[in-house]
Amino acid sequence: MEDARITDISRVTPDVRQYTVELLEGEFDGIPGQHTAIRAPGNGDGSGGVKPYSTLAVDGDRLVLMIRTYEDGTVSKYMGDRETGDVIQLSTSLTGSLTLESTERPAVFISTGTGITPMIAILHQYLRTGGEHATFMFGEKTTDQLMYKSMLEQMSATYDLDVVFATSRESWSGREGYIQESAEDVFDEFGVERDYYLCGVPRMVVETKETLADLGVPPERVHSEGWEDSQVSEA
Ligand SMILES: Cc1cc2nc3c(=O)[nH]c(=O)nc-3n(C[C@H](O)[C@H](O)[C@H](O)COP(=O)(O)OP(=O)(O)OC[C@H]3O[C@@H](n4cnc5c(N)ncnc54)[C@H](O)[C@@H]3O)c2cc1C
Repeated sequence: MEDARITDISRVTPDVRQYTVELLEGEFDGIPGQHTAIRAPGNGDGSGGVKPYSTLAVDGDRLVLMIRTYEDGTVSKYMGDRETGDVIQLSTSLTGSLTLESTERPAVFISTGTGITPMIAILHQYLRTGGEHATFMFGEKTTDQLMYKSMLEQMSATYDLDVVFATSRESWSGREGYIQESAEDVFDEFGVERDYYLCGVPRMVVETKETLADLGVPPERVHSEGWEDSQVSEA
């Protein structure tokens, strides 16, 4: 774990904040889609902890994170209490296998909640390195939790990118229901020609994998962190 200074904090939704951190020494080692680990020191009574956090962007000694604060949480609450200028401890070696597969095939990103974080990182890399066409699908309970909606809509006016948002607990002018339920409306056909990246609530990831398999998408075209299946089977 190395020391890094928080150089910027901005509010994304009422309970989600974006953090820019800069290492005091050295550089981060990792690629878009991977995650770091943050240590909350605690009070010496076992109240601290270490949790993984995906990166929105990584560039040399700088990292951008997005974290939802749980008031009864450990590391998320610790981060929710931090201010610009504070120094935190985090891992400089990013890990995780949810990374960009190919720019030669269209890419579909399906996420919920803070699962949007690695999706945005990989989307930027995909578009920046010549990706053919992307579809970005994001679901949340209510419209005030539709993170980065305006940024994604702006990107869709610049790049070959379609964006689809859905809310599961609020009526609005857009799509309603779980985001994975929209997939069959959005695409006419499914098959080997696209990569599907999934991240978010474990149930969404597992159900979407099952739906894609039923629709004939081969497993090698479906990419996720991989830990979600055990979470759902344990539940
Ligand atoms: C690979 C990976 C990447 C991740 N990336 C991000 C990220 O980019 N941004 C981010 O905000 N989080 C991310 N997480 C989740 C993060 O690691 C923590 O699990 C989360 O911040 C809660 O940690 P905590 O120590 O505050 O809560 P804990 O002390 O572990 O839990 C205390 C309480 O917090 C609440 N809580 C914790 N997690 C959840 C949840 N998922 N849903 C509802 N309530 C919950 C519950 O009320 C729980 O009782 C990621 C997780 C993984 C595995």
